[in-house]
Amino acid sequence: MAGFTISGQVLFGINNIYSVAADGGERQCRIKGKVLRGEQERYNPIAVGDFVELEPDPIDPGVGWIVGRRPRSSSLSRWNKKRRAVQILSANADQLACVTSSLAPPFRPRFLDRLLVSAGAGSLEPFIVLNKCDLGLEESTRIRIEAYRSAGYQVVECSAVSGQGLERLESLLAGKLSVFAGQSGVGKSSLLNRLNPGLKLPVGELSSKFDRGVHTTSFARLLRLRGGCAVVDTPGVREFEVAGIRPEELWGYFPEFVEPAARCAYPACRHREEPGCAVRQEAESGRIHADRYESYLRIYEGLQEFYRDFYGPAHS
Ligand code: GDP
Ligand code: ZN
Repeated sequence: MAGFTISGQVLFGINNIYSVAADGGERQCRIKGKVLRGEQERYNPIAVGDFVELEPDPIDPGVGWIVGRRPRSSSLSRWNKKRRAVQILSANADQLACVTSSLAPPFRPRFLDRLLVSAGAGSLEPFIVLNKCDLGLEESTRIRIEAYRSAGYQVVECSAVSGQGLERLESLLAGKLSVFAGQSGVGKSSLLNRLNPGLKLPVGELSSKFDRGVHTTSFARLLRLRGGCAVVDTPGVREFEVAGIRPEELWGYFPEFVEPAARCAYPACRHREEPGCAVRQEAESGRIHADRYESYLRIYEGLQEFYRDFYGPAHS
């Protein structure tokens, strides 16, 4: 018998059991039947932030059965090479806080650029959070940050230790669902704890936060915080490979490439080795930061690999 359903939002999922906020409470839910299983090998069918339809369990009020998922307004996905699958880290968020640190761990532009591209690919508004500013800022990092600003990205310089920049961060988060992503150790948990005393997320090195076992699954979760803001914390993400965009479309996700791209000699220029490529010339002359161009080339190669592996050789 098709039961009546209620709507809810997925807060987190672990081992195919999803915590869903519905009707003012939280239910532990599983997927019912085959409806959502089709893509399971290649995508996780349900992600944190998904709006789902549930059949409440007739006996246990804490349990439900997921029978449908509403279309997503946005998503953050990555290509999980080892599992040869696209992992959807979050759904329906408004924005992506790309958290980096000035030092310890050192600023890593490659990871940041992968996040920025993924935000664009998943219809999320990105901004950059540069944490640990109390430790100082190397000149090379300052120059890179300015390059991001002139490309149009917002950058919040802050410190979970000194409190610098946290008001601005809080105002950016207000009233929105924001995904926090970044290498482990940059201070995501510390920032969230500082913004929400009482949250008490574990802080420290990854190895001490999580079981050291062979299979340390990272899982994201949705946290509702004060001031009408909600965040998806994505701990333990060590690698981030872009998924789901065609290599030849990649340049469009680098805002500072768009203007010079119109001047390339070939209309279908991929901005790699083509003669008369205005994007490469801008990178060589320093008007496009060399790191950004290097990120472009590496993500391009990653996407070629993604397409080969995901769709077969005909798509590379
Ligand atoms: P996460 O893995 O991104 O969640 O990072 P954590 O919040 O666990 O922080 C990793 C380490 O960096 C911890 O030892 C924190 O105490 C430290 N840390 C976090 N934020 C700051 C900061 O703004 N300044 C300094 N100096 N250390 C910080
Ligand atoms: Zn070009």
